[in-house]
Amino acid sequence: MRLSPRHPRYASLRVRARLAEAHRRGLVVSEGLIAQGRGEAFDYLLGERTSPGARKAERAAAEWLLAARRPVISVNGNVAALAAEEVAALARAVPGLAVEVNLFHRTGERARQVADTLRAAGIRKVLGVHPTATIPHLPSDRAKVDRRGILVADVCLVPLEDGDRAEALRALGKRVISVDLNPLSRTSRAADLPVVDEVRRALREIAQQAERRRRTARPSRFTPFDARATLGDALATIVRALTRAAARSRIAPPRRRASPRRSRGIPGRSRRTP
Ligand code: ATP
Ligand code: MG
Repeated sequence: MRLSPRHPRYASLRVRARLAEAHRRGLVVSEGLIAQGRGEAFDYLLGERTSPGARKAERAAAEWLLAARRPVISVNGNVAALAAEEVAALARAVPGLAVEVNLFHRTGERARQVADTLRAAGIRKVLGVHPTATIPHLPSDRAKVDRRGILVADVCLVPLEDGDRAEALRALGKRVISVDLNPLSRTSRAADLPVVDEVRRALREIAQQAERRRRTARPSRFTPFDARATLGDALATIVRALTRAAARSRIAPPRRRASPRRSRGIPGRSRRTP
């Protein structure tokens, strides 16, 4: 399908086309498409931009990754399809960052596809294609990890993770940094440092912050982070956007117009289009 750059939802349509194509290749599973839908809904409510609260979390995430002895990023099909370049940029910005494939719906073929996608983006060493360990108290393939990666990591960056696994990693005493647009998800609530932002924006910002911090040569440490406050900030951003939208519709009831007008606050939304 040809997409017009003039379409008000062009950026989001492009992402959808990219994921749909990755789904046809078998990199992304059907459940991954649904997960993206949930993420999009929250991004819509968050204004499709990085909030000041998320930026603060991304700065802290960069510092934690640099302070870690053994940092790791866990990559699933959606993350590889959407953000392989951003994972590669982060791996350049954080020396020693291990990159590990971890799949909820694992097959050997999909694990290889994720690894190939990451290698094509410039990541030389990819762990987790042939898992060598399991994390306790987790049923199913989600428990399979690499003993050089997630098993021994002290800081785990888990974009688009499922709640059980985030909790299991925390129970092992690891510091968990999540990237998830849903501030209400169990993943966000389980994380020590929840980043409520879109995965590509978040990884790009964390990589830039890490580069910047390395240039200052200041030692990095595990500066305490208020996870509850950051989730509260994200919810407050959503509440403000909805309150503004509700107030606008009360003050100026929509009238029929020849051309749709954009409203502010909630992106890409014309007043009359459902
Ligand atoms: P749980 O409550 O167990 O954490 P969940 O609601 O998070 O479950 P999952 O399917 O396990 O559901 O994970 C998908 C999560 O990833 C959703 O919370 C969704 O908001 C988030 N998500 C999807 N796409 C993106 C994206 N592009 N960027 C950031 N977050 C995303
Ligand atoms: Mg989740």
